[in-house]
Amino acid sequence: MSELPRPTVTAQVEMHPQRWGDPASATELPESARGLVELAFGHAETPAVADVVLPPPGLPTALLDSLREVVGGEHVLTDDETRRLRTRGKSTPDLLRARAGDLSDAPDVVVRPGTHDDVAAVLAWAVDHHVAVVPFGGGTCVTGGLAARRDGFAGLVSLDLVRMKRLVSVDHESMTAVLEPGLRGPEAETLLAGEGVLLGHYPQSFEFATIGGFAATRSSGQSSAGYGRFDSLVVGLRVATPRGELRLGSAPMSAAGPDLRQLFLGSEGAFGVITEVTVRVRRLPETKVYEGWRWESFAAGADAIRTVAQAGLLPTVLRLSDEAETAINLARPEEIGGESSGGCLMIAGYEGAPGAVEAKRVAVSRLLAELGGTPAGEGPGEAWAHGRFDAPYLRDSMLDVGVLVETLETATFWSSRERLYTAVKSALEGALGVGTLVLCHISHVYETGCSLYFTVAAKQSGDPLAQWLAAKAAANDAIVAAGATITHHHAVGTDHRPWLHHEIGDLGVSVLRAVKADLDPAGVLNPGVLVP
Ligand SMILES: Cc1cc2nc3c(=O)[nH]c(=O)nc-3n(C[C@H](O)[C@H](O)[C@H](O)COP(=O)(O)OP(=O)(O)OC[C@H]3O[C@@H](n4cnc5c(N)ncnc54)[C@H](O)[C@@H]3O)c2cc1C
Repeated sequence: MSELPRPTVTAQVEMHPQRWGDPASATELPESARGLVELAFGHAETPAVADVVLPPPGLPTALLDSLREVVGGEHVLTDDETRRLRTRGKSTPDLLRARAGDLSDAPDVVVRPGTHDDVAAVLAWAVDHHVAVVPFGGGTCVTGGLAARRDGFAGLVSLDLVRMKRLVSVDHESMTAVLEPGLRGPEAETLLAGEGVLLGHYPQSFEFATIGGFAATRSSGQSSAGYGRFDSLVVGLRVATPRGELRLGSAPMSAAGPDLRQLFLGSEGAFGVITEVTVRVRRLPETKVYEGWRWESFAAGADAIRTVAQAGLLPTVLRLSDEAETAINLARPEEIGGESSGGCLMIAGYEGAPGAVEAKRVAVSRLLAELGGTPAGEGPGEAWAHGRFDAPYLRDSMLDVGVLVETLETATFWSSRERLYTAVKSALEGALGVGTLVLCHISHVYETGCSLYFTVAAKQSGDPLAQWLAAKAAANDAIVAAGATITHHHAVGTDHRPWLHHEIGDLGVSVLRAVKADLDPAGVLNPGVLVP
């Protein structure tokens, strides 16, 4: 296994501070869809988008100068544009705040370390001067994990990992690769493809989210049925903490006590900064086939998914939309209101070597047909694959015309799926009132259960932020009352933190606090995020 040459770091596309994604891909709602949206939600005024107002940077010049000595002056940025682009994440509340001109969470300074040692040096500086540090990967967080508390600190630094974009090494024999945290999804896959291998992690935020962020939030991608959640792909981590460095994962499996890697997977920058991730990789798939199946009801399709999972036959992609999502299909504006043949649409996707793909496809298809599914061919599968990263752009278009759109997710065991589905749906409809659309799909599948991913659309009230926060609180209450997890893959951040103790109990909270106190005694890392 040899170290690979450092690739040139090219300038990356930055997201619009008030919208999702590549500004060049922003779309207006088509006129046809706009009419239908008005039919569904009534006429709404186009909400005004205010100019963003940045608070002046709060760190004294002498402190900034000492930081410049640590990482080099050119990597310490205080200009408005950079600070604006490193403010919060991309949840609907984040976008609503930004659209209202509120950038009160902007960092005082953005620091761009180039190496693990740079990160360690910035942490030491932050401890010495009692400055809060927010690790920043792709900025796609949807749970407030980038909006750290700053009170009691001399200032707040965004630790932007954008310069750490190296594919460090590939071990072709063990099929592992070492990646730096700042690589975005497509950048990582392009570098790995150059080595003939693939990571296979495709969250909907794939274009902008990073390797470090995937690890720090326990992300789960659309092909998790086949390739696994991101945490299951991680075999090793290098972490910089205020107390020193940890290198974890020296064998494929180990019985050397509790697995300390698990302390950092999902730690959301509160315990340390992940500076290298060793992942499992696969050979590049030669064939990809995505197919649709129709089910008479969500319950029938869910039972079929459970049977497939428990038969050990999971394809690479397996997802099922409920009746409402199947009919409306928010992901494709041109199809809003299009003719629906009813029932529920399932997508089953297969990737790999042609023989293995065909064998799995035949076995799964036989089982699905026996269970009552109707094959819908490759058309719906191809359409899903083609539009799989489009929905977040549509959210902006809907916000533009006065519709509140947001998503949330949870997971539970199969025996509680129906109860959880009904409870969350009713909580959202109850909070947002008549005319609210609540769509759901099974997004990730296990032998023992699945995750439910809800998309909500309602007419915006005069205060859409308060409107959504009330609805989200109602959904969170329903989730904990049903005994499900507060998050299957979006992480805790600041938004889910008030509900975490229901899931892990007082003793669990105490364990998290003890870990935090040991690794970050001055509490400078992402204050107020994750740990209750
Ligand atoms: C439109 C949209 C679609 C999404 N779809 C999915 C999806 O399909 N699946 C899914 O799992 N998630 C999804 N998400 C959520 C989000 O993309 C994931 O949580 C992602 O893993 C965050 O990665 P990031 O690089 O953007 O991290 P950031 O948003 O930059 O950071 C997330 C958290 O991790 C911390 N952090 C970041 N890098 C490091 C590091 N190197 N070391 C320590 N801490 C770090 C940050 O401080 C923050 O608390 C979606 C979000 C959006 C906006």
